[in-house]
Amino acid sequence: MRICFATNNNNKLNEIKSKLGKAYDIISLSDLGHTDELSETHDTLEGNSMEKACFIHEKYKVNCFADDTGLLVAALSDEPGVNSARYAGPDRNSENNMDLLLDKLKGKTNRKAKFVTIITLILNGQQHQFAGEIHGTIAHERSGNRGFGYDPIFIPEGKNITFADMAMEEKNKISHRAIAVEKLVEFLKLQKINA
Ligand code: IMP
Repeated sequence: MRICFATNNNNKLNEIKSKLGKAYDIISLSDLGHTDELSETHDTLEGNSMEKACFIHEKYKVNCFADDTGLLVAALSDEPGVNSARYAGPDRNSENNMDLLLDKLKGKTNRKAKFVTIITLILNGQQHQFAGEIHGTIAHERSGNRGFGYDPIFIPEGKNITFADMAMEEKNKISHRAIAVEKLVEFLKLQKINA
């Protein structure tokens, strides 16, 4: 069965393809010829992942899923949350986003944070959502040069290094996205067994 993952991020595509095996043919937005960025007009991760999945489902009449992720920092009332990509301005600049976050946390003792990923799947016209989260703390300064986004300042619970210090395989075993993807994969495998 063919399913579109509403992304053009090859890392995300490869991750899910390797977990699903050959049971599903996962295609990307570019395989549909869709190059425009998808709108995210909601103020929740659930709303935005649903908006993106619904848009692609309605426009291309395909089964599809979309994800949305945010970093929620406890001492900042769960900021940047749904605005994680554009926290410091409209141009998705990770360095500026981290600077702003570290600045806002100056002098605060509570450094607790979590990453949350929500995936919305539309399969045969039915909507399903899958969530994954990982708790941790925000470091006082950057460390590591792997990964992307806020990885250099996020230390997962139980570790003493940041996501950016970890090998990609290590991060991908425990990350928020991996947990949500795992739930999606289990669901899709069950559909196949019951078909
Ligand atoms: P997206 O919904 O996957 O595009 O994520 C939105 C934003 O959250 C990204 O632009 C990053 O700033 C941040 N983000 C998402 N996932 C991660 C991650 O695994 N590590 C660090 N930052 C992330």
